[in-house]
Amino acid sequence: MYLHGTSQINSDGRLEIGGCDTAELAAKFGTPLYVFDEALIRRRCKEFVEAFRATGMRYQVAYASKAFCVMAMCRIAEEEGMSLDVVSDGELYTALRAGFPPERIHFHGNNKTLEELEMAIDAKIGCVVVDNFTELYMLNETAKEKGVKVKILFRVTPGVEAHTHEFISTGQTDTKFGFDIGNGSAFRAIREAKELEHVEILGVHSHIGSQIFEVDGFRLAADRVAEFAQNVRLELDVTFSVINLGGGFGIRYTEEDSPLPLAKYVQAITDSIKSNFTKHDYPLPEIWIEPGRSIVGDAGTTLYTIGSSKDIPGVRKYVAVDGGMTDNPRPALYDAKYEAFLANRANDPNEETVSIAGKCCETGDMLIRDLELPKTAPGDILAVACTGAYNYSMASNYNRLRRPAVVFVHDGEADLVVRRETFEDVAGKDVIPERMQKQPVAKS
Ligand SMILES: *Cc1c(COP(=O)(O)O)cnc(C)c1O
Repeated sequence: MYLHGTSQINSDGRLEIGGCDTAELAAKFGTPLYVFDEALIRRRCKEFVEAFRATGMRYQVAYASKAFCVMAMCRIAEEEGMSLDVVSDGELYTALRAGFPPERIHFHGNNKTLEELEMAIDAKIGCVVVDNFTELYMLNETAKEKGVKVKILFRVTPGVEAHTHEFISTGQTDTKFGFDIGNGSAFRAIREAKELEHVEILGVHSHIGSQIFEVDGFRLAADRVAEFAQNVRLELDVTFSVINLGGGFGIRYTEEDSPLPLAKYVQAITDSIKSNFTKHDYPLPEIWIEPGRSIVGDAGTTLYTIGSSKDIPGVRKYVAVDGGMTDNPRPALYDAKYEAFLANRANDPNEETVSIAGKCCETGDMLIRDLELPKTAPGDILAVACTGAYNYSMASNYNRLRRPAVVFVHDGEADLVVRRETFEDVAGKDVIPERMQKQPVAKS
């Protein structure tokens, strides 16, 4: 059993996170319940920030809020000195409502609407990461109408695709995101933007993938981006002050995953940028990165109550929990793997192999296949580890399930940061057209 952060087994044989007994949390807040180890989130933020500080370079570490975007998390990001990435008006609204400093917010996305750009400009956010020509001209027009100049980065595709253990160098990247360096579209974007009066070019951004365990992909992306920067400087007389190398730093979901210490990624990125830019006598740019999963992923644990089970002799035993693909769509979407154990009887020896099913009407609603567990009974609490990233943020109301509550635990205290949805949340937005209203039954 692998225990993340402050997780430990207490003297009652129960899983404890942040000094809180998870069986008590389940009783108090109900299940499914997302429990976040606040100390571990803060530790991950500090690992990035301190690794950059040690290099002496100028930097921004922007938390990619899409991984887990709630107001309390925006507060932590600010307190830890991070910047923040948003990719929609909803995420921007969340950050602003939490009081996050707008000048440290970066707006991403491949299809920002006019309303979103207006909202971003009105809020005076730090920069817009421009993805395509449509956006570039719409942004310039909107900024012109508002009489302002907007700082921009260009999202470029450097022709590097990184997967967990390998990276692929591709000539032309087949992706919906960004301007391709290889086919000249990135160069053209900068040439055209240079002529626009209401955008200020800070530099370029690249994001090569997710759940990456090696530094080679980042090194190659840094090489390509540096070469591009040098071309742009020589031919267009535009000097980048910011190079953003995105996120994608891998974490440990199961024993098959072997992540690097976060500082290693920072080291590799800063070293590559430093050597590439000094080689060309290029003024050292500020380096930005955008970790999402590696900030919150391993800090999250989901607690479920075990209900029914179905044993098919010689085939498989299903054990069902009170959530599933609604609170964690990743196994169904990506075939993602998770580890889990009994939170209320964590010291009991494993006795059988079971598969954890969700409660949705979908055969594919399976959370974990072939998990070793003690014999379970209805009412036992199952803890699924490493559910902090892309779980709550991807949760749905499929089958009209209510989205779970989220608590932050620390030093023996549990703070509710998202309340569990109510039936009103589920059906209260529905409207029955007048003509379908039930007529009062006439009394005879
Ligand atoms: C999703 C995303 C990130 C964060 O990725 P992680 O794998 O969660 O670190 C960062 N930058 C961009 C542009 C992204 O789309």
